[in-house]
Amino acid sequence: MDNCIFCRIIAGEIPSMRVYEDDCCIAMLDINPAGPGHTLILPKQHFQDITAVDDATVGHLFSVARKIGMRAEFRLNADGFNIVQNNGAAAGQTVPHFHIHVIPRFSEGPDMVSWTPTEPADGVLQAVLEKLTAEEDA
Ligand code: 5GP
Ligand code: ZN
Repeated sequence: MDNCIFCRIIAGEIPSMRVYEDDCCIAMLDINPAGPGHTLILPKQHFQDITAVDDATVGHLFSVARKIGMRAEFRLNADGFNIVQNNGAAAGQTVPHFHIHVIPRFSEGPDMVSWTPTEPADGVLQAVLEKLTAEEDA
């Protein structure tokens, strides 16, 4: 896609700091990292988000994300890593070309990926469960 910044990076029109590349994907350092080693894994083919991607590509990219996270532990002395993947503007996706974030984490580092736990009222979890598991219409 001509107007997609990640497609332009993959085509080499815009420079990137690539830490890994194969026939299917690249992994590059995020230009505005949450911390040292923050890496994005993106397919060479344009997909808007995870709902558009075939299972084999999703599986391959998550496998690469795991390797990048392990590399951050070995090479950057990270104590762990988050794998984050945003779909849709409401979920914080700002670049509409499917990608996975690998964010190395350090024991004394800031809390970056968190949410506020809630205590749902009686019946709320059950109602959600029923919606999520309802048989689809034939
Ligand atoms: P999203 O919010 O869509 O999940 O993540 C998009 C990420 O892409 C952001 O973390 C942002 O810093 C990164 N990003 C945006 N433009 C560029 C760019 O031109 N090069 C690189 N390496 N990262 C980018
Ligand atoms: Zn693209």
